[in-house]
Amino acid sequence: MCGVVGIISQKPVASELYDSLIYLQHRGQDAAGIITYNKRFHTKKGVGYVRDIFDEHNMSRLKGNIGIGHTRYPTTGKYNHEDAQPVWTGVPYGIAMAHNGNLVNHQELLLELSQKDGRHLNTSVDVEVILHVFAGKLEQLRNADNNCDFFDHICRATHEVYKRVSGAYSVICTIIGKGMIVFRDPHGIRPLTRGERISSNGKTDYLFASEPSVFYSLSFESKSDVAPGEVIYITEDGQYHSKILSSKKFTPCIFEYVYFARPDAILDDVSVYRSRLRMGQNLANAWKTKYPNVTPDIIIPAPATSNNAALAMANEMGIRYSEGLYKNPFIGRTFIMPGQQKRKKSIRHKLVPLSFEIKDKDVMIVDDSIVRGNTSQEIVKMVRDFGANKVYFVSACPPLINPCFYGVDIPTRSELIASNMSIEDIREHLDVDILMYQELDDLIEAVTRRGEHEIYRPCAACLDGNYVTGDVNENKINALEKQRIKERNNL
Ligand code: SF4
Repeated sequence: MCGVVGIISQKPVASELYDSLIYLQHRGQDAAGIITYNKRFHTKKGVGYVRDIFDEHNMSRLKGNIGIGHTRYPTTGKYNHEDAQPVWTGVPYGIAMAHNGNLVNHQELLLELSQKDGRHLNTSVDVEVILHVFAGKLEQLRNADNNCDFFDHICRATHEVYKRVSGAYSVICTIIGKGMIVFRDPHGIRPLTRGERISSNGKTDYLFASEPSVFYSLSFESKSDVAPGEVIYITEDGQYHSKILSSKKFTPCIFEYVYFARPDAILDDVSVYRSRLRMGQNLANAWKTKYPNVTPDIIIPAPATSNNAALAMANEMGIRYSEGLYKNPFIGRTFIMPGQQKRKKSIRHKLVPLSFEIKDKDVMIVDDSIVRGNTSQEIVKMVRDFGANKVYFVSACPPLINPCFYGVDIPTRSELIASNMSIEDIREHLDVDILMYQELDDLIEAVTRRGEHEIYRPCAACLDGNYVTGDVNENKINALEKQRIKERNNL
């Protein structure tokens, strides 16, 4: 998962790109980058947090009124400076690109591009593949007819991407002398939102971002999301062009609502916060049906993503909500730290149980999901160490049984606890008295119940094996899992 942002404005964009990346930091903490342009590209990329990469000196070099930025959380590529985004190519025009997502046919396209298309790639990140498919077609069109309407060329180059590239991709790119281009894969798997602001000279500034949370602070008004299969082109002087090039079933990622997105985000016309409350309501109803005679004394969220679901569940059940696990706010989210050792080590550093809330109580812990099970196991142990009487564990997400190949680091099946153990075995492994998972239908209902959305059905491939791009079968899963292990070992 990553965060991506692009701004085309009547004034310099570097500082507003920086602010946007701070708002998108939760989507990737391994690397970040910004590219702006006036007559040429100006680039700053680095490994680590946004605040540690950019400073007054390097920001002052990022000149221009158009630029894109990225926060990286690697699901392909290496953990190094070269693989930070945005990436760029000088031919044709000068195109810089960043994306949020992950490609299913990355390896096949790498071969095609180098062997058939004669393009040279510099990194191992999948966005560079999209860049070269797009740039190759654009170059071909320019050579054939340089006088044609440029938006027509953009549409045909984007169509080429839709034809050749399979997976999840929300893309923002800039072309020197032309402006900004934005497109989203035909299934709309990863989010991409648009904001607008009227500048002092009456022209419109545009901001595209993975999530809309930054809009208010930069005085942008939230407009519609970029539609699945849509391409948008903003010229340097602010003319807006858009076209839907492909219409497939709209299947945005359900895990954005479960875990990834900020609660203040509205994605594809669904409030993340409200959907999490509804997850809690549905959990409460399921619990009352399954365990009518079991009433915990308190409900504690495993902070902080599950706070909303735990609160709603407590309200619905008439049970006291307690923040009985205090989270150290200066520790990063363990789920997205590379490497098992770091992850294991950081859980105890991250949470401190409040003994006066826990001791001698029947405690229900609500978490957003159970991935490998090690975090959940440690949380349960902490709560038991601090004197809980009984411990019940509830997951707002159904069992994760398949890897994600669309941009979330849900790992291989051998690492997913629910892919290898029955629910009863997981309960024993976690050492809890009752373990309850959300039902998939209840989760989908929680996400889609409200909002004027056009979601057909969210992608839930990691939960039900239905990979929405239609090209992920058992052989493909095996190949992608092997590739992922190989890349991870190179990290
Ligand atoms: Fe999201 Fe899971 Fe689909 Fe990946 S497989 S896009 S995490 S719902």
